[in-house]
Amino acid sequence: MSKLLIVGTVAFDEIETPFGKTDKILGGAGTFIGLSASQFEVSSAIVSVVGEDLPQEYLDLLKSKNIDISGIEIVKGGKTFYWKGKYHNDLNSRDTLVTELNTLADFNPIVPENFKNAEVVMLGNLHPSIQMDVINQMTERPKLIILDTMNFWMDNALDELLAVIKKVDVITINDEEARQLTNEYSLIKAAKAIHKMGPKYVVIKKGEHGALLFNNGNIFFAPALPLEEVFDPTGAGDTFAGGFSGYLAATEDTSFENLKKAVIHGSNLASFCVERFGTERMENLKRDEVSKRLHQFKALTQFDIEIE
Ligand code: AMP
Repeated sequence: MSKLLIVGTVAFDEIETPFGKTDKILGGAGTFIGLSASQFEVSSAIVSVVGEDLPQEYLDLLKSKNIDISGIEIVKGGKTFYWKGKYHNDLNSRDTLVTELNTLADFNPIVPENFKNAEVVMLGNLHPSIQMDVINQMTERPKLIILDTMNFWMDNALDELLAVIKKVDVITINDEEARQLTNEYSLIKAAKAIHKMGPKYVVIKKGEHGALLFNNGNIFFAPALPLEEVFDPTGAGDTFAGGFSGYLAATEDTSFENLKKAVIHGSNLASFCVERFGTERMENLKRDEVSKRLHQFKALTQFDIEIE
């Protein structure tokens, strides 16, 4: 089985949407990526850091999905990364109310020995120098390195972020962040500018409006599945990244055609994530539900047209 190495936060999230609010619940980019990637036949591991305050049941949940958690450091007396966000009425935009790095502030990631040759590395959203540290620990150049990031790191660690972007094959980023990173309003121009920074593939996520994949001259677009119920978009981007990277690790094919399929798998899985608060929907998601929705996805986007 191919190996997928995931780096990302395992966190406490507190979320408010127009439909309600939560207490501190399980969240974090690494968590959502891992849960989503567990839908594929891959051997995955998460590298992260938490405090002693994180309930054991959260770690047990990840373990129950066959995720190797030996790379999740538990800091004695430490506090787990905490994020609080509030969504606006359109659910497509949100305000970050609190980001407490806690144990993440001085985290030295350690890649488990048996994952240093992972075929695919998914660098989830966290400090870019941690992402770089993980790349440097790999004993073989992975077939594919994918990086996700957010405006927080553009604001707080831009130089380190640009250095790690240079090293990766794929970047996944949302539209607003792509514009911030490049100072380009047009997403086509933004993607071109990001290609120049290093990544051969650029994925721009547009929330409920789908995702774009760029590979120099080639562009592919996948819509998001229109859903009747959207409760909480938290983690949708990471769930996308988990499906995208999980599929690519399982297939070990890094062609543009296969990345298109990875975008579809990522979008499909993200459509489940938003149906409940936090990780709830992803925790019990069954493979037959996933394939049923893939059929709907295919039907939604397929058409015949005669062109003279
Ligand atoms: P998403 O909705 O996919 O953008 O990701 C939401 C997740 O990202 C939440 O579960 C948060 O715990 C996590 N998160 C928020 N801010 C940060 C940050 N600055 N660094 C790492 N993870 C973060």
